Amino acid sequence: MMNEKYIEQLQSILSSPKKISIIPHRNPDGDAIGSTLGLYHILKALGHDAYIISPNDFPHFLAWMPASENIIIFDKKRELANQILSSSDYIFTLDFNILLRTGEDMEKVLEKMTAPFVMIDHHQMPGDYATLTFSNPEFGSTCELLYTIIQALKLTHLVDKDAATCIYTGIVTDSGSFRFPKTNANTHRVVAELIDKGIDNPAIHNALFDNSNYNRLQLLGKALQNMVILPEYNTSYIYLTDKELNEFQHQKGDTEGFVNYGLSIKGIDLTFFFIERKDEGIVKISLRSQGNMDVNQLARKYFEGGGHVNAAGGKSTLSLEDTITRFTDIIKKHKKEFYV
Ligand code: 5GP
Ligand code: MN
Repeated sequence: MMNEKYIEQLQSILSSPKKISIIPHRNPDGDAIGSTLGLYHILKALGHDAYIISPNDFPHFLAWMPASENIIIFDKKRELANQILSSSDYIFTLDFNILLRTGEDMEKVLEKMTAPFVMIDHHQMPGDYATLTFSNPEFGSTCELLYTIIQALKLTHLVDKDAATCIYTGIVTDSGSFRFPKTNANTHRVVAELIDKGIDNPAIHNALFDNSNYNRLQLLGKALQNMVILPEYNTSYIYLTDKELNEFQHQKGDTEGFVNYGLSIKGIDLTFFFIERKDEGIVKISLRSQGNMDVNQLARKYFEGGGHVNAAGGKSTLSLEDTITRFTDIIKKHKKEFYV
């Protein structure tokens, strides 16, 4: 399953103490934080000097994760981040495959680095910035891929309860709690090994999904009321305006999972979620699909984004209203071109 030559190269990199920076994508999710922390725990156990530098803050529903307090936020501590990055022997990038996914500012910093990059990722169409690329879109999560690499390196004995907890978290979140199509026997075998490491799996689900506050559920209620169905096109969408987000004191991570409701309606195979982000001057877009409707291509072609066949993201610099008008137009004219 793993390219042996790459594994040997990684083995040789890790064979003597190194200073290593580990980077997730901007607006990191459970898989990005889970995989960077999982790797961090392993590298520490191997005796490396490891640092996680996240482009921006991570959502509070992940703040319980072991060692998450050690994550350095680039946006808040640029000088420190720069200093660590430029003195690193290696830079590992996890859960993304083009440097722009760290944001324009951090991309510029990373492009100047002389240290070699190692990519571990499961998105389609990897960029070529890394000297060592572990890229496999057949994996449902970077965390599952990471664990499979650890197995190939024969280092699973170093995965303690904390590392296992982080890796399990990324698998759960990216697989929609084991329900998305890329969930396979390997996923469950990896999970079985993680459970053998002593993780408290019910407590992890609880920390991830049963930690909402009242405002978040009210915000979900608002988003659901805003849902529009385009029955002829088997498509639905929801949106939240800047005003609505503020009304419910929106915090980072509050809208996580909302997009899936649009797909839970019978007959719908494509859904969009538009979030008006006035402070950034954009509308953030989440796309989800079922079956062979390819939202990766749709996001790439029309919404400055990308991702996977059934889950992608993008953005628009038009107003929310104009974005939705343009989206409706594109769906009516072009949706059928994106069945693979
Ligand atoms: P989400 O809707 O949860 O933000 O993103 C869904 C999936 O699409 C994630 O796997 C994420 O990595 C990917 N994705 C989100 N935004 C972008 C983007 O702007 N560009 C690319 N290439 N992928 C994205
Ligand atoms: Mn992922």
